[in-house]
Amino acid sequence: MGREEEVTRLVLAAEPRPFWLDRPDAPPARRALRGEVACDLAVIGGGFSGLWAALLAKESDPERAVVLVEGNRVGWAASGRNGGFCEASLTHGAANGQARFPAEFGTLQRLGLENLGAIEAALDAHGIACDFERTGSIGVATEEYQVDGLREAAESGGATFLGPEAMRAEVNSPTYLAGLWDKAGSALVHPGRLAWGLAAACERLGVRVAERTPATDLATDADGVSVRVRDGVVRARRVALGTSAFPCLVRRLRPYTVPVWDYVLVTEPLSTVQRAAIGWRNRQGIGDSGNQFHYYRLTPDNRILWGGYDAIYHYGRGLRAAYDQRPATFARLAAHFFATFPQLEGISFSHRWGGAIDTCSRFCAFFGTAHRGRVAYALGYTGLGVGASRFGARVMLDLLSGEPTELTRLAMVRSKPVPFPPEPLAYLGVQATRWSLARADRNRGRRNLWLRALDAAGMGFVS
Ligand SMILES: Cc1cc2nc3c(=O)[nH]c(=O)nc-3n(C[C@H](O)[C@H](O)[C@H](O)COP(=O)(O)OP(=O)(O)OC[C@H]3O[C@@H](n4cnc5c(N)ncnc54)[C@H](O)[C@@H]3O)c2cc1C
Repeated sequence: MGREEEVTRLVLAAEPRPFWLDRPDAPPARRALRGEVACDLAVIGGGFSGLWAALLAKESDPERAVVLVEGNRVGWAASGRNGGFCEASLTHGAANGQARFPAEFGTLQRLGLENLGAIEAALDAHGIACDFERTGSIGVATEEYQVDGLREAAESGGATFLGPEAMRAEVNSPTYLAGLWDKAGSALVHPGRLAWGLAAACERLGVRVAERTPATDLATDADGVSVRVRDGVVRARRVALGTSAFPCLVRRLRPYTVPVWDYVLVTEPLSTVQRAAIGWRNRQGIGDSGNQFHYYRLTPDNRILWGGYDAIYHYGRGLRAAYDQRPATFARLAAHFFATFPQLEGISFSHRWGGAIDTCSRFCAFFGTAHRGRVAYALGYTGLGVGASRFGARVMLDLLSGEPTELTRLAMVRSKPVPFPPEPLAYLGVQATRWSLARADRNRGRRNLWLRALDAAGMGFVS
């Protein structure tokens, strides 16, 4: 058997489901909502956005009647499928934030760090066990041209530059040329346990959580909003939408996001010998520095989760369960994994899966209201929403309060990304961008005419 065939055989032997949700302590399904229910706040979506919105609403006003409806199961979508990097950044990284919101970037950095601290405090306060580890994360350079960027980022403060020896003393890969260790701005979490723990905490505070209850329509009525669900209706004074990459119930918002698939592999637990061969005693999350980048980390039981690189968009904003599996991407990811850690040759993979990312053209969330200020939304986290979704939930509640707050005054909250064009232009645009980003990675990061045009139009991707 050739090398490529061997790698493909290895990845296809893995379970085709998210590692994080494949646990014997997964909670049983909650009852669907039937008939008519009235409440002060209806939350649509049982991912991190919706769960934080419900929890924060109850914390701030325990008398408020809150109902959360989830179309499938709590945490089954992006929130239970991600890498578990819980970052302080609200803007998909400093470079993107600085470029888009230069005047308030310092404020966004502070709010992001406060948000990460508040997540840690909430986990303690509600007794949510989700393997939260404040390890920090390391951006690694695997190409010579990336090293200066890391050194400059370290000079602007907040993170530690690691030369090749220092980097390999932390984690041993022959591909590493340097690293940038951000100790304060990043934590790791078990996303499945976080979603389940948040839902249980919501219920302890009195939130009604209904699963298998898709909302199909929103309509303004005399004193609120009627949320039609499959077998009933929720009459709510206010509504928070945390529906991510799924078709938005406010139709005019649909052009602002496209679902882009991201894929992940998880290995079997490493043996003591394998752990010794790679070091990684400080368990940091790691990401490499290309436009097409990998992110990877140790799981609580010492497997390696390895994801990223390919970002796949299907014509027509397609969202199908079949897209969760993509053998060609899994094989590519596995080949890159063994190139990074040749010491682990022969290790097998236990899980493989993919998930849809709500991508918008500014690469960080956008916010707003509809239905005369009675419906708020936070969408478009573009692959960095594990931590930022709590901030987005706060923004939604502030917007629904109708009172101006520090958050609702932010330019980040008041502005919107450029919408995507209709098909076939959206598809052609995404393909041209992917091709150009891959080319830039092979060409010392140099951006071609297409990427420079996107930069000028405010749609440029800076990882
Ligand atoms: C493979 C992958 C890796 C990632 N890695 C990271 C990472 O390491 N760090 C990071 O910060 N981010 C990461 N992300 C992104 C992160 O997971 C998301 O930004 C975050 O989970 C978004 O949470 P959410 O609640 O907005 O969306 P989701 O978790 O997608 O939840 C939305 C929910 O709304 C429900 N819903 C939608 N429409 C309706 C409706 N009409 N009625 C009822 N329910 C509805 C859906 O069923 C779903 O459960 C990753 C994403 C993927 C896919």
